[in-house]
Amino acid sequence: MSWDFETDPEFQAELDWVDDFVRNEVEPVDQVIHHAWDMNDPVRQALIPPLQEQVRERGLWACHLGPKLGGPGYGQVKLALLNEILGRSHSAPIVFGCQAPDSGNAEILAHYGNDDLKKRYLEPLLAQEVVSAYSMTEPRGGSDPTGFVTRAERDGDEWVINGEKWFSSHANFAAFLVLLAVTDPEEERHRRMSMFVLDTDTPGVEIVRNVGIYGHSPDDGTHSYVRYTDVRIPADHLLGERGEGFIVAQTRLGGGRIHHAMRTIGLVKSAFDQMCERALSRVTQGETLARKQLVQAMIADSWIQIEQFRLLVLRTAWRIDKWNDYQRVRADISAVKAAMPKVLHDVASRALQIHGSLGVSHEMPFASMVLESFHMGLADGATEVHQITLARELLKGYTPTPGLFPSHHLPKLKAEAEARFADLLAKAGRT
Ligand SMILES: Cc1cc2nc3c(=O)[nH]c(=O)nc-3n(C[C@H](O)[C@H](O)[C@H](O)COP(=O)(O)OP(=O)(O)OC[C@H]3O[C@@H](n4cnc5c(N)ncnc54)[C@H](O)[C@@H]3O)c2cc1C
Repeated sequence: MSWDFETDPEFQAELDWVDDFVRNEVEPVDQVIHHAWDMNDPVRQALIPPLQEQVRERGLWACHLGPKLGGPGYGQVKLALLNEILGRSHSAPIVFGCQAPDSGNAEILAHYGNDDLKKRYLEPLLAQEVVSAYSMTEPRGGSDPTGFVTRAERDGDEWVINGEKWFSSHANFAAFLVLLAVTDPEEERHRRMSMFVLDTDTPGVEIVRNVGIYGHSPDDGTHSYVRYTDVRIPADHLLGERGEGFIVAQTRLGGGRIHHAMRTIGLVKSAFDQMCERALSRVTQGETLARKQLVQAMIADSWIQIEQFRLLVLRTAWRIDKWNDYQRVRADISAVKAAMPKVLHDVASRALQIHGSLGVSHEMPFASMVLESFHMGLADGATEVHQITLARELLKGYTPTPGLFPSHHLPKLKAEAEARFADLLAKAGRT
């Protein structure tokens, strides 16, 4: 038997170090920089690289990667425990070299890039000399990638790209873009697209605007609307085989989704901690909020939701480590992805409510956490799409009943049992 809910002492010591380091060194940085990805910000450049150096010295750099790519290769369970801590800080993922969307782009380049592309794009990305963006969603709609229209056409030794992408996060900071485009429009709908890598400053790449999330000022957005007009890139900037863009995309999205979930646990726990502190501190009608039973219900419901979600994330991480096959954990990842926005939304909303007017103000983080829950329900696929995937996968384990009534129809079960135990029932005089 090995149902173990304990962390080994050696790794726990690392987690304790990370917890202290994030609390004392990284969280204060969140208060003075706008975007941890913005390498043009001198304050960011003064504060983040020295912290990254400390993480490297501690051997905790890029923990999502195996030793071949410069990470410790901890696997997903340990990564989950680590990301739970990093998730409560905006800058911590970048300080530890495991931030989205760069982590997913690095996975794509590591799997599908040739030696030249690895040298040119992957190495500086892993060394954190640059950041990158992932350019997949289109303004016409992201939930159905089979409807994408951005084209890459072959012309001699080059690809020529035309089209528009929407919400390419951090393209305004990025040195390069990983792009999904239609190369084979006549092919079957899952074999029409291919993945590419290109420099952001390639002629014809235009950032129409950087869209902001509600609450940020309009000129402070980081989700770029990108137009590609006759953009020419070398033929070998194709990642994976022509027509296999979907398969390549899955390489990044499987890991990306579970990593978001791990970090979300950190954010949601932070909301919970703040909720409990406030409940114990605020007095009304002669007693603390913590003594009000309706407030206690909010605290209990929040804890239950967090722990249920955390166990689902950890079990999914364990299954990834066990099988090393994202296809096999597709249903688990969709379940995690579909559960994530609701946990964050519910717990952050309760924390906001318990803080009253302070909770809804700019002076506390809860309103942005509630909005973040919508981010979690959209990025890397809308909740409904993951519910559909999960249900489809689950239904594969079932077959329709051949008869008119369900196989667990009680009259049928009773008749079968009575036939089986007929002698016994007769002896007992119960026929
Ligand atoms: C903060 C943030 C960062 C992002 N970063 C990136 C990025 O870096 N790169 C990138 O390429 N994209 C990124 N995205 C885009 C994201 O992938 C899309 O938002 C997502 O795929 C949904 O596409 P859409 O926004 O066009 O919504 P639509 O496709 O228009 O869907 C709208 C809504 O319709 C409903 N819906 C859709 N399909 C179904 C269905 N089959 N059944 C039932 N209901 C359905 C859902 O409620 C869905 O939310 C980001 C999004 C956000 C919010």
